[in-house]
Amino acid sequence: MSFSTPSPSAPSLSLPWQKGFAALGSDFYTELRPTPLPSPHWVGTSHSVAQLLGLPEGWHQSEEALQALTGNQVLAGSTPLASVYSGHQFGVWAGQLGDGRAILLGELAGGHEIQLKGAGRTPYSRMGDGRAVLRSSIREFLCSEAMHGLGIPTSRALCITGSPGLVRREELETAAVVTRVAPSFVRFGHFEHFAANDQEEQLRTLADYVIDRYYPECRSPAATSPWGGNPYAALLHSVSERTAQLMAQWQAVGFCHGVMNTDNMSILGLTLDYGPFQFLDAFVPGHICNHSDHHGRYAYNRQPNIAYWNLFCLAQALLPLIEDQDTALAALESYKTVFPDAFMAQMRKKLGLTQAQESSEALVEPLLQLLAQNAVDYTIFWRRLSHAVAEGQFEPVRDLFADRAAFDAWLLSYSELLALEDKALAADLMLNSNPKFVLRNHLGEQAIRAAKGGDFSELATLQRLLERPFDEHPGHEAYADFPPDWASSISISCSS
Ligand code: AMP
Ligand code: MG
Repeated sequence: MSFSTPSPSAPSLSLPWQKGFAALGSDFYTELRPTPLPSPHWVGTSHSVAQLLGLPEGWHQSEEALQALTGNQVLAGSTPLASVYSGHQFGVWAGQLGDGRAILLGELAGGHEIQLKGAGRTPYSRMGDGRAVLRSSIREFLCSEAMHGLGIPTSRALCITGSPGLVRREELETAAVVTRVAPSFVRFGHFEHFAANDQEEQLRTLADYVIDRYYPECRSPAATSPWGGNPYAALLHSVSERTAQLMAQWQAVGFCHGVMNTDNMSILGLTLDYGPFQFLDAFVPGHICNHSDHHGRYAYNRQPNIAYWNLFCLAQALLPLIEDQDTALAALESYKTVFPDAFMAQMRKKLGLTQAQESSEALVEPLLQLLAQNAVDYTIFWRRLSHAVAEGQFEPVRDLFADRAAFDAWLLSYSELLALEDKALAADLMLNSNPKFVLRNHLGEQAIRAAKGGDFSELATLQRLLERPFDEHPGHEAYADFPPDWASSISISCSS
């Protein structure tokens, strides 16, 4: 197999590319061209991402954009590349992985990297075909924008393009490409790669790049002094804190990632690589959303510990730079307090409580137990509770529990704490912390089924709701309702 290097591009829009990751040099990536797909068409677009990138008005809907963002044409000034990384998959060292189907087009002024996912084979594709299917591309596109709407750090998605070109999964499916956007797609696995290969110079180059670009504060005396002046320990500390914050947000909203391998962990604490993810329907703490995850390693309630395990791998990888094992362990230590504190802060917002911190935190565990015992729909519970506080009518919340007496007992304690709050402010906080709309599996599935039939309006509607998930969106109650019976039969695996 051969990979052609970029040739001079056709005349095209001149975007303000800057060097970014490409400046690291050829130890970090392979330059190559995306592999074209036949007869591309638009499937979905995010106007807010187009604005974020500062794209010229209308360009992201042009024929040139369609071809370029499907990988059929290289934009002037872009030097596409696939990066190399390694990682632990399902707790086991997997060796070299890398961008097997994602191709980085480059970085735009403003610091946004643009990457095509599903744009063809790379030297890191291993047995894969370098493609992504329409269904998984729709899920990634929608969830990126949904997470952003929820205020959760994530890679973004500019658009999806589809093609009649076929790819084989369990059956033949059509191919698609998602244009992803993030300040950086560097993963824990990038560091693990160079550490595992004893490439200390490259490891340092990568760490320096990440610090200078994304964590410059890690060089300040204030940040390095707890670590004997070591900026790499300060980096590890910052990454673990950001990851702890991210886990708190995932847990609070009921998001299951599904494949928290170290190669899917963002060095910036972003949600990255949407595969078999799921937003909880009923609150089942041990819920496993990935049908390929037979032992439930990545079950909902294990995510915070898995993130810590992954940070430990990152610490191991950074050890040649940190030099001292105790310092590396100490840099991870704050995860153990930052995560629970951040999670409690999230739960207090969801409860609309700003006073009496200890008493309000004491409400959380019993509530989660009640939700689990009664298999209460997680999103609907919080939204109904928000409305109940706003309107003083708790019956619709109570109706969600089989064990009403247990709920009444909890409500009594909650009401005592609510009495300390300004009711209107509490309700407002709750309605802006507890989304009405999340990307439930069945909603994604409906959009996918319609899109497979050539109708992208369902996707657009869902996108619009998820972009502003705390708004009421009158007339769209069905999207905020309980999942239908068939939702439980949806099986999402790593196949994508
Ligand atoms: P994921 O489970 O999607 O995070 O992917 C794990 C690794 O497999 C990464 O190196 C991906 O680039 C690679 N990969 C996944 N699917 C494909 C595919 N269809 N073709 C090539 N590489 C793939
Ligand atoms: Mg991945």
